[in-house]
Amino acid sequence: MDQKQTKILLIYTGGTIGMVKDYKSGSLKAFNFKKLLQHIPELNQLDCTIEAVSFHDPIDSSNMHPSHWAEIAGLIEAHYESHDGFVVLHGSDTMSYSASALGYMLENLAKPVIFTGSQLPIGDLRTDAKENLITSIQIAALKEKGRPVIREVGLYFEYKLYRANRTTKINAEHFEAFQSLNYPPLAESGVHLKVYKENLLPQKRAGKLTVHRAMDDRVAILKLFPGLNQNVLQSVLSTPGLKALILETYGAGNAPTDEWLLSQLKRATRKGLHIVNVTQCSGGGVIMGQYETSEQLKKLQIINGKDITTEAAITKLMYLLGSQVSDKLFKTVFETSLRGEMS
Ligand code: ASP
Repeated sequence: MDQKQTKILLIYTGGTIGMVKDYKSGSLKAFNFKKLLQHIPELNQLDCTIEAVSFHDPIDSSNMHPSHWAEIAGLIEAHYESHDGFVVLHGSDTMSYSASALGYMLENLAKPVIFTGSQLPIGDLRTDAKENLITSIQIAALKEKGRPVIREVGLYFEYKLYRANRTTKINAEHFEAFQSLNYPPLAESGVHLKVYKENLLPQKRAGKLTVHRAMDDRVAILKLFPGLNQNVLQSVLSTPGLKALILETYGAGNAPTDEWLLSQLKRATRKGLHIVNVTQCSGGGVIMGQYETSEQLKKLQIINGKDITTEAAITKLMYLLGSQVSDKLFKTVFETSLRGEMS
């Protein structure tokens, strides 16, 4: 089959990859997408056809919002039949959040959606953008027996493809900006492009792609630290309309055993707030009841986040609330891996 028949859609949302320096302020800001493509004539050498769409106003990913995720999901839905794979160019700052969110929003995904970006702009002499972009496109175009090899949302950065909802940005400076400490890479790029098939999501017979756009933002994250003040907890828990909270705990899901803390959490759960226990460690996960300091949380029926990342957890909350999962089922559904986001 003529590889050029493989069609890839590039979705440019913004980020350093397409930024230029503002001469007045010296800071980086997003610029016109057409210029981005002019910087990479190598794209013409790829064995696939590349089409590109861009956000009307490309953004620094710090300005990312669930409405932008819905826009990306909508673009993928609109081009799903006509294209074989999708590459989303995105700032690295919030890439793990967006890519995790898209994983939930695109139910029954059977084609590759690869998020990538770069630490240096594409026009920079030492840029990491070209490799990231070119290999992401190659990965999105990979096929076996006419079917896409990757059938999930991935994140490609600095020679590694990860399951997107397992990643976290861990470095603001190194080219190796992301890590996936609780799940091995899906593919690695060296002299050869190696796909670790055993790490891919099992290929079930997929139904029709269903796009869920509703993401409920009545959620919050509270990171524990020694000295957390009662009033701070109190004001977070009494946030008007709050539906769900991620409690970033210590180590294997541990929290202080102070009476005031436990009674406030108890009151909040009784009122219907969903509280999820997620560890602040980048690797490993929550084991409720391993220590006395998590035993009480277990008794309070706090949801076990296991080895999920905070990024995948907060977007899962938004997705489940947006999908109106009932209060009764909420804990069970959260504790179930929906897109390979937890072990
Ligand atoms: N601030 C940029 C952004 O996230 C950083 C990057 O692109 O890597 O949009």
